[in-house]
Amino acid sequence: MTDTAKLLRVFRVDQQLRGLRTRLTAAESFAAQQEKLLNDLKSRHAAASAELKKARTKVASDESETASIDARIAKIREQMNQTKTNKEYSAFLSELNSLKEQKDAVETNELQQMQALESLQKTVDDLTTQINERQSIVERAKTDCQTKHDEIRDRLTELKSQRDTLAADVAPASLRVLEELIAARGDDAMAPVEVIDRRSHEWNCGACMMALTVETINRLAKGGMTRCTHCQCVLFTEEENVASKSEPKEPKAPKAPKAKVSKAKKPSAAPEAEASA
Ligand SMILES: [Zn+2]
Repeated sequence: MTDTAKLLRVFRVDQQLRGLRTRLTAAESFAAQQEKLLNDLKSRHAAASAELKKARTKVASDESETASIDARIAKIREQMNQTKTNKEYSAFLSELNSLKEQKDAVETNELQQMQALESLQKTVDDLTTQINERQSIVERAKTDCQTKHDEIRDRLTELKSQRDTLAADVAPASLRVLEELIAARGDDAMAPVEVIDRRSHEWNCGACMMALTVETINRLAKGGMTRCTHCQCVLFTEEENVASKSEPKEPKAPKAPKAKVSKAKKPSAAPEAEASA
């Protein structure tokens, strides 16, 4: 098996590993986002409940003030019935009118407070409903996370061990290059050579779409790790790609690349500069 084919095996398993982790990360981030929304609702509920409590106290105090004014009015009426002089009667009447005005003011205020209380009660009730709904979303998200985590755990362990086995078969320097490229470019760390026109020696890098030289293709055909001179990705041929896809556990060494180059004009030896950068 060529170095390129070995690198491609590691790259493919690595892609699956990254894919699995991405799904778990997405589920975890959704759960965290839902929990944050729930906590926001809870703080708004707490604030609205505190305001509601204050409004209730205020209404209760207005009610007791109204009752106390009513009691004073009743007493003054009683006293008015027993007055002997006009002067006394006028004084009581004036006090009575002033109390009625006070009562009106308290009642107007009380009405406003009652409306505010009603609106606050509605806010608290709405928030309670939203909290219950969000709570079940959070629980579902957490369960989903746990399920995904459990599902992925076995597959992750399996893939990691598969990757370790495959990586052990790759030259350490090449593996390091691949790992650096994966960290920097993810799925574009390796790219297939795209054949534009075999007879006129036209090939493109599948990642950056720039033209590849005959020297690059020649080097790749020899099986050594070959990088695109433009984007620096590690190149592979479609034959290696097919082998890797159809037989993921034990891909056979590709035979085709040499045939590909033999059709090309025999290029001079691949320049050393194209070796690993
Ligand atoms: Zn490229």
